[in-house]
Amino acid sequence: MTMNDSVKPLAVLFQHEPETLGELRRLAAVKRKVPGILLVTGPVSQGKTTTITALQYEMDRTRLEIVSIDNPTEHVVPFVRHIEFDRRDGATWSRASGQLIGMDPDVCFLSEINDRDSAGLGFRVTECGYFCVATLHAGSAVGSLYRLIKLVDDGDRAGCIDVLAYNLVGVVNQRLAQRVCSRCASTVRAGDRMAPELLKRFGMAPADQIRIRQVGERCLSCAGTGSDGRVVTIDSFFAPVVASERHSFRRALAAGEVDDIASMQGVVGVRRVASVARLVREQVIDPDEGARVMGWA
Ligand SMILES: [Zn+2]
Repeated sequence: MTMNDSVKPLAVLFQHEPETLGELRRLAAVKRKVPGILLVTGPVSQGKTTTITALQYEMDRTRLEIVSIDNPTEHVVPFVRHIEFDRRDGATWSRASGQLIGMDPDVCFLSEINDRDSAGLGFRVTECGYFCVATLHAGSAVGSLYRLIKLVDDGDRAGCIDVLAYNLVGVVNQRLAQRVCSRCASTVRAGDRMAPELLKRFGMAPADQIRIRQVGERCLSCAGTGSDGRVVTIDSFFAPVVASERHSFRRALAAGEVDDIASMQGVVGVRRVASVARLVREQVIDPDEGARVMGWA
């Protein structure tokens, strides 16, 4: 399959998220096998597969051995070995694991971790020193870590916390928002349209200009829907690289105290509210849509 409409480059997907785009590009520029695990998480149908496909395109696929275990395979990316994981064919994670280790890849994509066995494979691949990019169903970046840890057996949990603490490179949790159609939207002062409480939550001033979605206009661009596709909003963090900071990360993870992870030393992170507020300020989404994505509407 060639690049088509449903396959978008990272630079387009994360055009409004320069920090996260920068980190993802740095990771995608890997030249050989480096140990690490990156989690791309979010609720169902919120663009996780689109993001990992974009990451595969961004990587040096002719130099790296890249294996993608998919359930199902949605996009075949050239020079990536796709293995379709289908339980109806009797596939098991332990067999997939054996196949994978036999291939000795540099990078392994795992889509998606949703039970004890797939979580076990994710940890095993990471322990083997491969760079693992896995998707997971979770509502927030920090929640993703706990969801992953909860999937493994009690007895294996401490070991998994160690693997995560020392190998996690980051978590990108995403949710999609409707992009407002710029042709038919009206532009107004934020103070004329947004409640003071909402302005405050988004850190905006009454004089800021915002775009309001119009539905039912005779607009050739959006056919009257008022929307122009969807845009990614994120809750993300990238883990510290300094060893001493890794130790405190491990302690926080083991104690269940990582809720303030974004403010920990060495962590680069963007909270969902900052991501959504930026899109409202940049007139990419309507404030009501922003409130909906935040769960405030
Ligand atoms: Zn329109």
